[in-house]
Amino acid sequence: MTVRTVLRGARWPGDVAMQDGRIVAVGSIEPLPGDRVVDVAGDVVTAGLVNTHHHLFQWATRGRAVDSDLFGWLTTLYPLWQRLGPEDVHAAAVVGLAQLALTGCTTAADHHYLVPRGDDSVFDRIADAGREVGIRIALARGSMDLGESAGGLPPDSVVEDRDAILESTAAVADRLHDGARVQVTVAPCAPFNVTPELMRESAALARSLGLRLHTHLAETVDEERDCLARFGRRPVDLLDELGWIADDVWVAHGIHFDDAEVARLGAAGTGVAHCPSSNARLGAGLCRVTDLTAAGVPVGLGVDGAASNEVGGLFAEIRQALYVGRLRGGADALGVRDVLRLATEGGARCLGRDDIGRLEPGARADVAVWPGDDIADMPDPLAALVLGPDRLVRHLYVEGEPVVADGELVGLDLRAARERLAGRARRLWD
Ligand code: ZN
Repeated sequence: MTVRTVLRGARWPGDVAMQDGRIVAVGSIEPLPGDRVVDVAGDVVTAGLVNTHHHLFQWATRGRAVDSDLFGWLTTLYPLWQRLGPEDVHAAAVVGLAQLALTGCTTAADHHYLVPRGDDSVFDRIADAGREVGIRIALARGSMDLGESAGGLPPDSVVEDRDAILESTAAVADRLHDGARVQVTVAPCAPFNVTPELMRESAALARSLGLRLHTHLAETVDEERDCLARFGRRPVDLLDELGWIADDVWVAHGIHFDDAEVARLGAAGTGVAHCPSSNARLGAGLCRVTDLTAAGVPVGLGVDGAASNEVGGLFAEIRQALYVGRLRGGADALGVRDVLRLATEGGARCLGRDDIGRLEPGARADVAVWPGDDIADMPDPLAALVLGPDRLVRHLYVEGEPVVADGELVGLDLRAARERLAGRARRLWD
């Protein structure tokens, strides 16, 4: 048994005790001799947040094509991305994950679909970045096999061969997947840069290895048009034919669904990573979050790539989800507890996990402590957290171990990491 840590005196939900990587008690706890007691008087404690969609490598190309829609933005950036090596991606991932940790995230999905020259050691370097920052990674081995010459959107130089993708995906899972700190998933990029054969074979591979599946779906009206033109089907129909409307799949964005499609996704249990800031930034549309959750769809939050969301923090997405949900459905469409649930439990469900995203005895001790001193005047601590000023965590724990303490990352020199990334980013543009 390791030493028990007791977070004492939080305004919400009271005291929290952690031991051996698990939450062991929540409520009113009398510290025992030998406990490590952390005074969190007046603070607000939640489960660590779960980010369900990101492209960490894009931290190296922030701030470009800022007024473009998705396809314009992608075609500007593809040529640059082919120059990214594993060390560029590692530098970007460290800073991106650090930003997530400081904003309360304890588990982050990274959809990495760019493997120039087939060098899949890039996935090892992303996993390294997760270890260096100290948070869990859902490492989505992304892929593209449909280049421009075959009717796809990306230049041929950034796509891979289908057999090589499948072989590499199995090897990456074998090297890195442990299901707890690193969860490898199988993740062809999007309908407009992947062949139906790769989608079908990826699903078969994932199911043979017991891994989950992830892709982009129904993000833009352009995608829907492209899908109708190429296949004569709407994106959900296409994915269904390929075996992807199932409960081991979660999709990014999920905006342009009709009523029948929402019901089908709910019946199948297919999850949606809702990325409200990215959707607003690219003018993609408003996700039907309340309809999706009412239909039984697991919905989590995602910051999306840092080049379509230059902030990269997960905390701000909670409030943004509330705003976007209310813009679509009115003031009573989404409450503060609903959006907090999306950011925690909902995200965990997308990743197929019931061991994280809950502040309850038995769950893994992934815990965020938010400073409460400047919101003490607000009567409801959770409403204050969601609707009050932006904040970074005071403390963050993953598996009961401190990742952020007193507002600082425990194992990382963030300033040095930012300098390293800036140097690498400048080199890309030369
Ligand atoms: Zn994305």
